[in-house]
Amino acid sequence: MSSSAFLYKRAQGRLASRDYTTWAVGLLESGYDFPEATFLAGLSLDAELDHVEVENYFQLCAARLGLNLVPDPEIYFENYIKRICSDIVAGEVALDVWRETLSQYWIEEEIYIFCIWFDLLVDIDKFRQVIMPRHVFSEGLTLENLDEFTISLAKQFVALMEADHPNCFPFVWICLECGFVDEQTSTTVPEDWCGSQCIGPSGERRACGHCGKGWLLNMRYFKNREAFLARKIIPGSI
Ligand SMILES: [Zn+2]
Repeated sequence: MSSSAFLYKRAQGRLASRDYTTWAVGLLESGYDFPEATFLAGLSLDAELDHVEVENYFQLCAARLGLNLVPDPEIYFENYIKRICSDIVAGEVALDVWRETLSQYWIEEEIYIFCIWFDLLVDIDKFRQVIMPRHVFSEGLTLENLDEFTISLAKQFVALMEADHPNCFPFVWICLECGFVDEQTSTTVPEDWCGSQCIGPSGERRACGHCGKGWLLNMRYFKNREAFLARKIIPGSI
């Protein structure tokens, strides 16, 4: 278990004492060599664990590692998913398994930015169900390039996590000319999108009334997020 996964599950209260000692063993195997980790890893040999003792040594390890332990599972979840996305880009994740587990994460953590993965599932589902397949949010996606597109989305997720973006991202419209952010909901894509005239430029962008020059881009769309990242604007700066 990676440290990001460990901290996420710890914040959710889903770890057993044995998970702590296993984590410490992983630290040693990764080259971290300090007495607290050695002691915690050594407890893995005990038949029964004292959780107070385990927690105390975990706190000492965390201090050694400079881990900022906060009670908010969302922060750990974001770091956990960011780590998975980095592993996807490095070719270390089974992409079909990852896609199959996405809906589980959505149920667990309703974190706005994670919606970009849920939107991928929506588009894959649309492709598989309709006679005339087309994407809603994922321009460039086909059933033939699922893995390639998943990697592109993973790269985008990591970049978004490192960029300055509004809290309710991607449920926002952003003007790439002036940085104006409109938090009007962007969940307006109609259910009967197939063959609907509602999908397209009107759902993806609209004129910016603030600067009068640019377009407000709906950040639910993959290509709009690419444009947002390429432009490197500071959203909400006006
Ligand atoms: Zn504008």
